[in-house]
Amino acid sequence: MTKKVKAAIIIIFLILSGVKGYTQVKECGTVATPEYIENYKKLLQSKSGTFTSLECISRTLSVAVHIIPDSANSYIPDAMTIAACVAKLPPAFSPICLDFQVCSIDTVHSDFYLDDFLDKFLLVENIALHYNKAHTINVYFIADLPIMDVGGFATLPSTPTTEGFICVRYSAMTASTIVHEAGHYFGLLHTFETGDELADESNCTTAGDLICDTNADPDSTGDFVDSNCRYFGTFVDANGDYYFPPISNIMSYYGYCRCEFSHLQYAAMAVVYHYFYQNQLW
Ligand SMILES: [Zn+2]
Repeated sequence: MTKKVKAAIIIIFLILSGVKGYTQVKECGTVATPEYIENYKKLLQSKSGTFTSLECISRTLSVAVHIIPDSANSYIPDAMTIAACVAKLPPAFSPICLDFQVCSIDTVHSDFYLDDFLDKFLLVENIALHYNKAHTINVYFIADLPIMDVGGFATLPSTPTTEGFICVRYSAMTASTIVHEAGHYFGLLHTFETGDELADESNCTTAGDLICDTNADPDSTGDFVDSNCRYFGTFVDANGDYYFPPISNIMSYYGYCRCEFSHLQYAAMAVVYHYFYQNQLW
């Protein structure tokens, strides 16, 4: 076998096996357990009769910002960058009258740099045990560490809520990531989360994101939109119907196309707020 033939075989193998020459950053690392999904489904179904109009919660929630630098402290976001990132929250949550105000900013001690933590979620979870401030929304901005292969991640609500957090990597601070992660913090799932949602939404309360005014989304890659946010995927559902995914929805993976929550997502977040956070967040 000649060298050229061997090289051709290797190239074909790499193409077929999907190997890429770069590390692709995924949108989000938030994980919804089956237990969470089941409880969330029951909570939404028990309150669905109240979803016609949105409640004005009328609360200003405190935000504690924590910076997790790399071990060389090579870059730390300045106050303006932090303020600009957190400032994305109030307009995004204004339909249910939730406002957000930064009450403190601190930097995580070097003991918690990479060290023994190979898992990003475990790293921040351990940091949160030491740095989380009570009765506030704890937002961690983390350096673009080698272990970070996502733009951000957050805890879904659970009891007690004291260990919850939102985490955004530095390079995602100018994107919609913080709003997406806040959506998770207030209970929302990805638009594609549980799969199998039919394009006609007829099974919307038990499939996909369990929200009935977000179109079914078959795509967890976000790859099938062009630079003008036009969808060009050709997926069909179990009935053979084509999907029209919610490209602009914050809880999708369509990157810079994301700009809005739906009415029922707001209603769901208001329900989650009352169930988990009403007496916990000040
Ligand atoms: Zn997410």
